[in-house]
Amino acid sequence: MTIAYIAIGSNLENPQARVERAFDELTRLPRTRLSARSSLYRSAPVGYTAQPDFINAVAEVDTALGAHELLAELQAIEARHGRRRSVANAPRTLDLDLLLYGDTRIDEPQLVVPHPRMHERAFVLEPLLEIAPHAAIPGRGSAAACLAGRADQKVERIR
Ligand code: ADP
Ligand code: MG
Repeated sequence: MTIAYIAIGSNLENPQARVERAFDELTRLPRTRLSARSSLYRSAPVGYTAQPDFINAVAEVDTALGAHELLAELQAIEARHGRRRSVANAPRTLDLDLLLYGDTRIDEPQLVVPHPRMHERAFVLEPLLEIAPHAAIPGRGSAAACLAGRADQKVERIR
C-alpha cells in the first residue's frame, strides 16, 4: 500500500458541492482507502484571472493501485463531472491532480510526480499541510518550507 495525496479543485457549477462529491467518489476507488480529507479552501484563480474563485481541498489515500492506475481513476472521476480539457488554467468543473505517490518520482509525458507545480501553489500546500503537517516533496524539501515563500497568495479556509 502507498500513501498518495490528491488535489481537488473546482470553479464551475457549484464547486463546493462538487468537491464534497469528489471526496465521496474517492471513497469508492478500488483497492483504496480514503484516509484523510482537508477542509475546503477558497482561492483566487491563477494565470487567467477573469474566472470565478476556486474551491480547493486535498485528500490522502492509502492505495494498492499503481500511480498510473490511480491517475486513470482520477481522470474517470473528472470525466463523470463533465470535465472538458481546454487550455491550461481554464475554468473547470473538477480537477484532480496526483500530488504525491509515496516518495516516488515519475517524469513521463502523461504523469509527473511530485506534481510539477505543487510546491509553488498555496492552494495546494495549505490543505496538504492541514492533513499532513510533515509532508515532504521529493526534490523540493518540506511542504511547510515551500509554503513559507508563498505568503503573497491568498487562500481562505472556509470549513
Ligand atoms: P492542469 O491540472 O495542470 O490544469 P489538466 O488537469 O488538464 O491540467 O491535466 C493535463 C494533463 O496533465 C493530463 O492529461 C495528465 O496526463 C497530465 N499530468 C501529468 N502529471 C500529472 C499529475 N501528477 N496529476 C494529474 N495529471 C497529470
Ligand atoms: Mg489536472
